[in-house]
Amino acid sequence: METKKPPRQRDTRDRREEGIVSPVEGFNERGRKAAGDKALHDAIQLFTHKSVAGRNAVLNALPEAPELRERAYGIKQRTMANLDRYLEQMADAVEDRGGNVFFADDGEDVVRYIGELARRRGAKVITKSKSMATEEIELNHRLEEDYADLDLEIVETDLGEWIAQLAGDTPSHIVGPILHMNLERVTKILSGAAGENLPPNVQALAAFARKRLRQKFLTADVGITGANFGVAETGTIVTVTNEGNGRLVTSVPPVHVVVMGIEKLIPRFEDLSVFTRLLARSGTGQELTVYTNFVTGPRAEGELDGAEEFHLILMDNGRSKLLGTPFEEALYCIRCGACLNVCPVYRQTGGHAYGSTYSGPIGAVITPLLKGTDEAKDLPHASSLCGACWEACPVGIPLHDLLLKLRNHQVEEGLAGKGQKAAFKVFENTMKSPALYNISRKAGRLAQKPLLKDGSVKPVPGPTSGWTGSRDLPPLAKKSFRELWKEGI
Ligand code: SF4
Repeated sequence: METKKPPRQRDTRDRREEGIVSPVEGFNERGRKAAGDKALHDAIQLFTHKSVAGRNAVLNALPEAPELRERAYGIKQRTMANLDRYLEQMADAVEDRGGNVFFADDGEDVVRYIGELARRRGAKVITKSKSMATEEIELNHRLEEDYADLDLEIVETDLGEWIAQLAGDTPSHIVGPILHMNLERVTKILSGAAGENLPPNVQALAAFARKRLRQKFLTADVGITGANFGVAETGTIVTVTNEGNGRLVTSVPPVHVVVMGIEKLIPRFEDLSVFTRLLARSGTGQELTVYTNFVTGPRAEGELDGAEEFHLILMDNGRSKLLGTPFEEALYCIRCGACLNVCPVYRQTGGHAYGSTYSGPIGAVITPLLKGTDEAKDLPHASSLCGACWEACPVGIPLHDLLLKLRNHQVEEGLAGKGQKAAFKVFENTMKSPALYNISRKAGRLAQKPLLKDGSVKPVPGPTSGWTGSRDLPPLAKKSFRELWKEGI
């Protein structure tokens, strides 16, 4: 049965054309709306509770987990310190095995490379497995637009990603792309794709998806994957999946393209044992994902499967400028999603409120770093700085420290709001002057009188209402320490 192309998602360019300066701005408004959405809230709670419980159980049963975490951090630290050398080693290893390597500065480079490759191969159908790197550069839509003459059909084959694609939606979690959708919505979307009413039953829906996607796997001209890890010493690409679609994307089409962020490199094969023991446990609460795929170059003589052409795209897209800076640790991320699941902010708002591909604590850190701090000003403030993200991170990235550094950077760059700057200036002057301090104390006591209720100050109107509306603000003491001291009490 022929299928219609899924609707196009609104991408960054659309939003710019609509006059939205930065699509990432507006976290506060989106977050407030999301936090009030009961169905969304229930879906997020269900997913994150389950993930955290699963993670805790498998990590508690692994006594060496703290040591693995330290080793993971150390490996990433050494890799980033010598990234140029490992990138060269990776490229040489892939080329020695007959593969092609392309260094892409940004998303435009990636789109151009794949578009021209599709043209040369006369490609019509491209299958993809889940890849945050390609989401980051909005690959599907850019390819469909910039290479419209090729009339490409690009099909996501991870079940959640496919459903999001059919709905013209974007993933809301690194690991669970459609955690924001309930069964009713998924049934409606898949029924739309089927052209008939499907029963709201997981088995029936999965059977439909399997049948429909199988046609695409068998007719695909090009398969695109991301990479969880790239092993520099052997040129091996490692992907971990639970659905098996990754294997069909890499082994059936004649051409396999890997889009890999340069930070996904690890030096040696033996380093993998550190990361594979941490990744699934932290992300999905599994000891290991169902499939761990290793692809080293194109199909060699005598091999039964694999692509005849293999292309590795090593994508920078803003990563290299973080090397050697106080923000380098953001590149150690292995995209497990654990920090999202424990974050009290993410657990209220879900991923779409962040307005960016990456959400949760790592999204709040990496998005301003990759897109520019002036493009994502709200995100470093989308955190309570409780440190739960750092505790959950299998690589030990101090996300709360990085968020603070980003806030500091905003102030140094003059990006803090005028009101905020003025308020801190007034505070500074008041604290420096005993006379001003005394006046403000007395004024404060007078001002709080009409707001006192049950021993605390009621929500203060104005810019601090967001803070005081959900917290008890203790009133100023009737007498200060100095006054009590003078009275000899
Ligand atoms: S920052 Fe750490 S916890 Fe968050 S996704 Fe990356 S590796 Fe996982």
